[in-house]
Amino acid sequence: MQLNQRDCPSDCKYHCMVQREKKRSSLGFGPVKYYGKWPLKRVFGLQEPLSVAFSALNLAKNVQGCLLFFNLNKKTSYNYAALWHIYGFLSVNSCVWSVVFHSRGMEITEKLDCTSAVALLGFSLIISILRSFNIKNEAARVLAASPLFAFTITHILYLNNYQMDYGWNTKVCVTMGVAQWAIWAIWAGISQHPCKCKIWIVVFGSGVAMLLENSDFPPYAGLIDAHALWHAITIPLTCIWWSFIQDDAKYQTFDLNKKEK
Ligand SMILES: [Zn+2]
Repeated sequence: MQLNQRDCPSDCKYHCMVQREKKRSSLGFGPVKYYGKWPLKRVFGLQEPLSVAFSALNLAKNVQGCLLFFNLNKKTSYNYAALWHIYGFLSVNSCVWSVVFHSRGMEITEKLDCTSAVALLGFSLIISILRSFNIKNEAARVLAASPLFAFTITHILYLNNYQMDYGWNTKVCVTMGVAQWAIWAIWAGISQHPCKCKIWIVVFGSGVAMLLENSDFPPYAGLIDAHALWHAITIPLTCIWWSFIQDDAKYQTFDLNKKEK
């Protein structure tokens, strides 16, 4: 117990839940939520083992995507490179805290997971606006990003220092997620970008993932729940998205060279 850094009350709650679920299952009843969460079996001391595994894979894919983009960036002249570098850092940071939170859910790990996810979503929305409207001027970028930046910071401060309001946070995250994918989808629809099919795939995949997570079905075999499946779907989407970012850097460099000739 000490090795896993678990305290007696949380261990007691877990074993009590396992006993109750065994009894319910023997009587033919399905699982019920405990303290607002579906009962999941611990594996190697990990609270939500599949969410940990899928978050770790997503982390690996984000690190790989970042490194490939950094290397490519040495050979390209891409106006959005610095923004995607920040995006890469926020993605990796979000995956790290997701692994930590799903391994051991505590108030502090939950706040860090939630905060890093909000920061990533807020920045993703900013980058979708700057790229789709092709805003290259620094002053115009600051002007366009400031309201969203201020809102994201205020929301993070509200969650951490005033109230961890899950209902409100879900509304904010869903709105920011839907808004950014709507912007990318409209841009893909009207632009002549040669790799826009990758945007369609990621927009469609993100929509399916969001619907799946909102379905919040009871866990299968005490391991597979809706949130773990959402984490699983994000892995191929991460690969396709980083591939699009690299293609965008190559395409813009090619376009720039063509104009200079
Ligand atoms: Zn998660």
